[in-house]
Amino acid sequence: MTKSSWGHYPKTTQNLQFLHWPPKQLPTHQTILPYGLGRSYGDSCLNDQGTLLITEKLNRFIDFDPSSGVLHSEAGVTLEDILLQFVPRGWFLPVTPGTKFVTLGGAIANDVHGKNHHAVGNWGHHIVEFTLMRTSPQEILTCNPHQNAELFYATLGGLGLTGLILSAKVKLKKIQSSQIKQDMITFNNLHEFYRLSEESCEGFEFNVAWVDCFKNSKQENRGIFFRGNFDDNQIFETHKPSRLLQVPFFLPNQTLNAFTVKAFNELYFQMHRFKAGTNLTTSYNSFFYPLDAIHHWNKIYGIQGFYQYQCVIPLDNKAALQDLFQEISNFQQGSFLAVLKVFGRIKSLGMMSFPVEGVTLALDFPVNPKSTELLNRLDEIVMKAKGRVYIAKDARMSQKAFLAYYPQFQNFLKYKDPAFSSSFLRRIS
Ligand SMILES: Cc1cc2nc3c(=O)[nH]c(=O)nc-3n(C[C@H](O)[C@H](O)[C@H](O)COP(=O)(O)OP(=O)(O)OC[C@H]3O[C@@H](n4cnc5c(N)ncnc54)[C@H](O)[C@@H]3O)c2cc1C
Repeated sequence: MTKSSWGHYPKTTQNLQFLHWPPKQLPTHQTILPYGLGRSYGDSCLNDQGTLLITEKLNRFIDFDPSSGVLHSEAGVTLEDILLQFVPRGWFLPVTPGTKFVTLGGAIANDVHGKNHHAVGNWGHHIVEFTLMRTSPQEILTCNPHQNAELFYATLGGLGLTGLILSAKVKLKKIQSSQIKQDMITFNNLHEFYRLSEESCEGFEFNVAWVDCFKNSKQENRGIFFRGNFDDNQIFETHKPSRLLQVPFFLPNQTLNAFTVKAFNELYFQMHRFKAGTNLTTSYNSFFYPLDAIHHWNKIYGIQGFYQYQCVIPLDNKAALQDLFQEISNFQQGSFLAVLKVFGRIKSLGMMSFPVEGVTLALDFPVNPKSTELLNRLDEIVMKAKGRVYIAKDARMSQKAFLAYYPQFQNFLKYKDPAFSSSFLRRIS
């Protein structure tokens, strides 16, 4: 059995050790790295020639306190497991990434963010405590803001390098419905996007936009802005774990090109323009997890895999966002479903967390030399703008770019467990 990351790049070979509760001593004869569901796109969840500690069997709930909403679970419990059990009881995740196929441990190790960053921060802001297994000495530590606090903050966004998270306590959010009331608004250029973002920060918990990287005839980038809140209609739909569609095999490399991506973007824009409106009721699944409905959608990029590039640009340097779109347009390498969102002021708690105040853009490109060249150019723009790139999505940034984005890295290394390593760590060291 092999394990890969979501982008199917790079290709690696590693030993797999399946963990059972309670895990005994951790192996130290080879480098080790915890592995959740491999929803990281690049090599931060891979450990070529080493061992992956597979957490999928650490999947039990331990305790739930309905008076505080604090859920205590083993680290391999998935966000989907939590939703299936707790949405019908009126509880939701405090923060959710764009897929529910993520483990509790993986969400902590990347300090993941969602559409409500401006309102509630990242995943780490809602973690009460976790237990961490380390190797030298072999011990299990309780980490929270008062006990082993430095290790707590190093492990939030710590890329699985500070030890194995065994279990964690997360504070869930009370909801009055499982449905979302959303507005879907088209915009014609980035000025309109910023205006919508600003006006939506106040009244809406969830904001995100899709933007077309191909410029229109006026040389502008159009898109669709989605904003919403949980409804209060006391309807709690139950969902079975279901997947409607699937991509059964890797598509040929030629399937995606400027022509097909342009055609897809046009179709997507026109469909949403037709459906646009306000106060539209939708299920939480279609609002938060539209891509989860297509099993293995990552295979459409072909066997060679794909890069996701996600950066954040400080708001006082908005021109850099225009420069990124210009560079993408020059390369004729449009991406479908480019996602744009403004991160708010709430400071990340994790030492190596990605979110900082600014505008974040996420794009997908097939792995090929042209994409690599384009992404190196984008890095130049992001470095100059004093932004950063999300490590969970990365498979190719240089050491120079990494150190510019994360100057705190040397300090972080003090908390790394000596037995733990990853393909990402070795690439940028
Ligand atoms: C469709 C899609 C949409 C996404 N949307 C978003 C988004 O909106 N926001 C966002 O922030 N991210 C997003 N992501 C990225 C994803 O949320 C993160 O990469 C997440 O960390 C993956 O979790 P995982 O359980 O699959 O962990 P893996 O990818 O397997 O591992 C991630 C990291 O966690 C570490 N790890 C895993 N388990 C443990 C443990 N028990 N103890 C210590 N370390 C551990 C690993 O070593 C690795 O460094 C998205 C990914 C996909 C595929």
